[in-house]
Amino acid sequence: MDLALGGKVVLVTGGSRGIGLAIARAFKAEGAFVTIASRTEAELRQVSAEHGFYGIVCDVTDAVSRGNLISDVVQHYGRLDVLVNNAGGSNGGAVLDTEEALFREAMELNFHSVVGLSRLAAGLMRPGSVILNITSISGRESGGRPTYNAAKSAAISFTKSLADELIPKGIRVCGLAPGSILHPSSNWQKRLLKDPEKIKAFVQTSIPAGRFGTVEEVASVAVFLASDQARWVVGATLNVDGGQSRMNF
Ligand code: NDP
Repeated sequence: MDLALGGKVVLVTGGSRGIGLAIARAFKAEGAFVTIASRTEAELRQVSAEHGFYGIVCDVTDAVSRGNLISDVVQHYGRLDVLVNNAGGSNGGAVLDTEEALFREAMELNFHSVVGLSRLAAGLMRPGSVILNITSISGRESGGRPTYNAAKSAAISFTKSLADELIPKGIRVCGLAPGSILHPSSNWQKRLLKDPEKIKAFVQTSIPAGRFGTVEEVASVAVFLASDQARWVVGATLNVDGGQSRMNF
């Protein structure tokens, strides 16, 4: 299948590690011009040099930094065709053990960054452009930490609202909700090292496919969703989870 992503200008937030890096690499392999953004400058520079990305230091929770990021991409390439809102993460614990400040932080990172970057991008995108939000199956059902579940739920809802608003202008918005994905910098890797038996039992009972997902399995769906082959996917958030989610519909 020809995804026709060659020459597209793509921005992947959180592209220096894990899922974001795999998505950035997959776009690069399709011939796209790829920019990655993250906070840790040394890692960003090293990864960008290694893979031929344009790297921009950015904290997506900061509105000024978000504005500078989009301006920089447009100044460098003249346009933006695909925005992948991938940067995210979890914090806190049980609701009663978690300060409200952590709920706000989780919303800033997993939701407000998506709103802010999407608004900036949508203002300058041409017809045929795509915004892809990386959320989580935890945004649809219990499983993750409460701060994270709530923020990812908000991002899934926002994906649908923005999609309906932008599709008349020819800009497509959709989402991808990974299940548990194992990679070297993931929380799962840390938990696996700490208590291998517990995590192996979790995998056997919680993931029907009987293993963690890989970053490549997420990335291949991401590039498809961003391509014109997925042009009728509008507002949907697709689970990519080896059967892990429990929803029947
Ligand atoms: P990682 O923690 O491995 O990587 C996160 C990336 O985002 C890094 O590049 C990090 O770089 C960057 N980042 C974090 N905070 C910020 C910030 N404030 N501003 C800019 N960049 C930031 O995450 P994963 O690859 O595991 O996850 C990627 C996405 O997929 C997230 O949205 C996550 O919620 C989602 N997801 C992951 C799952 C998993 O099992 N791994 C399951 C379901 C969803 P730096 O720290 O240098 O800024």
